[in-house]
Amino acid sequence: MKVDTGLLSAGGEGATARFVAPAALLVFAVHGLVLLAGPGAAPGTFVFLIGTPVMAGILCMLRAKRDGWEGWLPLAFAMLLWAAGMAATVLGLMALEVESELSLSMLLYVLYGVPIIFALTSPAEEAWYVRVVDALLAAALGYVFFRYVSIMSTMTGTAVAGSVALRLMFDIENIYILVFAAIRLAACTDAAQSRFLRVLTVYAGLYMLVAAYINHVESDTEFGHWPDLLVDLPFLFLALAAAGSPRFPVPAVSRRFALVVKAGSPLMIPVTLLTVSALLVSHDVPLVLTGAFFATAGYGVRSVLVQLRSYDEQDRLTHLSHNDALTGVANRRLFDEVLQREVLRAQRDRTPLALLMIDIDHFKLLNDHLGHPVGDVRLRSVASALQACARSGSDLVARYGGEEFAVILPRTEASQSVPLAERMRAAVEDMHLASPAPSGRVTVSIGLAQLMPGSADAQALIDGADRALYEAKRGGRNRVGREMERVLEAV
Ligand code: GH3
Ligand code: MG
Ligand code: MG
Repeated sequence: MKVDTGLLSAGGEGATARFVAPAALLVFAVHGLVLLAGPGAAPGTFVFLIGTPVMAGILCMLRAKRDGWEGWLPLAFAMLLWAAGMAATVLGLMALEVESELSLSMLLYVLYGVPIIFALTSPAEEAWYVRVVDALLAAALGYVFFRYVSIMSTMTGTAVAGSVALRLMFDIENIYILVFAAIRLAACTDAAQSRFLRVLTVYAGLYMLVAAYINHVESDTEFGHWPDLLVDLPFLFLALAAAGSPRFPVPAVSRRFALVVKAGSPLMIPVTLLTVSALLVSHDVPLVLTGAFFATAGYGVRSVLVQLRSYDEQDRLTHLSHNDALTGVANRRLFDEVLQREVLRAQRDRTPLALLMIDIDHFKLLNDHLGHPVGDVRLRSVASALQACARSGSDLVARYGGEEFAVILPRTEASQSVPLAERMRAAVEDMHLASPAPSGRVTVSIGLAQLMPGSADAQALIDGADRALYEAKRGGRNRVGREMERVLEAV
């Protein structure tokens, strides 16, 4: 009896496209001629049945080398598994150990789908440890396939039921791969990935049709007849496509759809695992339970890992949205938020609040003489000096804009804010950073404003600090100006 099924797939690469097309035609034509010899063609036909997936596998590997291993390499691996399945069939026929060899070949034909399912479901951009979980789930799927094939092909006295069950397995696997490849292709927004998925979808469609025809219509036909030629088709297509597939523009895809498919893809392996395990419910209950446990726990662990990564990413984005890229201190957005919050708190709790506006002196001169890059370095140094003086946990040092900084000092009386401002001014001066300014070093002028308990006007505080800063500049720079009284009047 001929065994069979699903053809496999794999991919190849393609710098040699112009040699591959005539080679594929030649292979197909010679295979046809060999089959004309009739039933005696069996030994010759195996050369092609093993050779075409190997050819596809090699070309997929070359393509993987050129375009990156994602997708193409698992496809190459799948091709080689299929070819090995066919080799096992040949060995079985030669040794006449039909039972055991046939089940090995069956197993290899089924396993061929595992790397393809992995390539389709495990997102390339996911962290390596998440992909390891995907690979473990794919391996569990391979094991359940193995058990399924063993059970079905060793069912004594029910050979027909066994082969019906094996065909069902192949059909399910082939349909899963085709449908999933098509969905991934429809949701794909990346040009390189879209080329791979287009090839895989066409290949999977061809493979499914050929496998269905051979398994359901020609299942009693021996090797060495014309249906063998059909088996070549998906592999030769894949070899050609891996050697060089045409580029098509990637169609516009709804963002929501693309995201749903991206997020939902990893569910395919556990769902396949559950489906295949469930098929064994009347044969091996412990295996069904184990399969269900692995599918659920594996997907659970995966979700936790992905969630952790997403928390980290959120933290990173929050940091980016709250911090100034050049100096690392808080940016204007965070400054505005915190100042509003602190002013309300000061009013509610009747606590004092101080604000410093800090401006680097003669900074334009520095940029003009030493260049913008040196100016940037000085900005970073000043920010670090200010940050080092701030009280951690309460004060907020922010880049207000250009060469201006602002420091929010919550629950701070004038008796603390004045010395703190002075310390900041002195810290910058004491760094002795060279500058073309008249003083010869980088200095800052500081405006200090103080909101008294019960007041609630952020703008009045900013205006007060600005006026104080202006006074400090007018008074000769490199000093601290104070505007407490006027702020009090304003509120
Ligand atoms: P004053 O002492 O009165 O504050 O004079 P000044 O030169 O510091 O003030 P002015 O407002 O005339 O110039 C500010 C300069 O700061 C001009 C601008 O090129 C520079 N600047 C603003 N942002 C940056 C930055 O991100 N990097 C660099 N290198 N320079 C900046
Ligand atoms: Mg300025
Ligand atoms: Mg300045």
